[in-house]
Amino acid sequence: NRFDLTGRVALITGASSGLGEHFAQVLAEAGAKVVVAARRVDRLRHLAERIKSAGGDAATVAMDVTDLDSVKAAFEEAGGFFGTIDVLINNAGVARSMLFAKTQEEDWDYVVDTNLKAAWRVARAFVDQPGMAGRPGSIVNISSILGIGVGYGESLYATSKAGLIQLTRHMALELMRNNIRVNALCPGYIETEINSGYFKSERGQAYLKNNIPSKKLGTVEDLSGALLLLASDAGAFITGVALPVDGGHLLHSL
Ligand code: NAD
Repeated sequence: NRFDLTGRVALITGASSGLGEHFAQVLAEAGAKVVVAARRVDRLRHLAERIKSAGGDAATVAMDVTDLDSVKAAFEEAGGFFGTIDVLINNAGVARSMLFAKTQEEDWDYVVDTNLKAAWRVARAFVDQPGMAGRPGSIVNISSILGIGVGYGESLYATSKAGLIQLTRHMALELMRNNIRVNALCPGYIETEINSGYFKSERGQAYLKNNIPSKKLGTVEDLSGALLLLASDAGAFITGVALPVDGGHLLHSL
């Protein structure tokens, strides 16, 4: 089973909620030892306990992806749990929807620093790990269909996620010689605690009906297969791609 991750160590950023929390469980179920990272470790305790009580291995680490010292310290600490990290999921991200005409420099810095520059920061720390020379690795950058398509009021977020796809391709090209694959996973609109209220509202329902060919949101479970493919040896010949998992949302036609 080439999807099996037994013997591998995975680190997931922004793992205290939403997609990251789910990704950690999926990788643990596939056999990986997981290091879950978030700014506040107390918010990771439940997740780590859930993984352990399901028979997996999990450790928690504090990491603010916008702070290089924090990222470096987190990797040092993480290495002490299960050894070198083999699989990195760059999941931490923020959204700030606003009209272009209202955007300020501070909005730009916040979104681009967290969604784009942080992926570079964390990936550098991953590549620089002491045990990494010649060791195969896989990086999955969590982008979005907004890194490919266009959304009203999404100039900052979409630009950061498009940049992340281009960074993915360049990393894939240059890290091939290090045996590290780098891919982007581009989720469509996925139901999480944060947006489920909106999509149950009349406006949200109308959006689903008019804009998404499948007329429904994805669930975190819908991302599991693609995540495992990119993270594991099942995707050994896949690098530098941006894979949409959106139930056809990008097919929305005029
Ligand atoms: P979320 O807000 O629940 O998760 C984002 C996580 O990132 C949070 O836990 C947050 O604390 C963390 N984070 C933010 N800034 C951080 C920082 N400086 N350091 C460390 N952690 C930080 O939302 P989500 O929907 O689970 O999003 C996860 C990823 O998936 C994001 O990159 C998001 O852009 C992407 N995404 C989500 C959807 C969706 O529909 N939910 C669609 C496409 C892409």
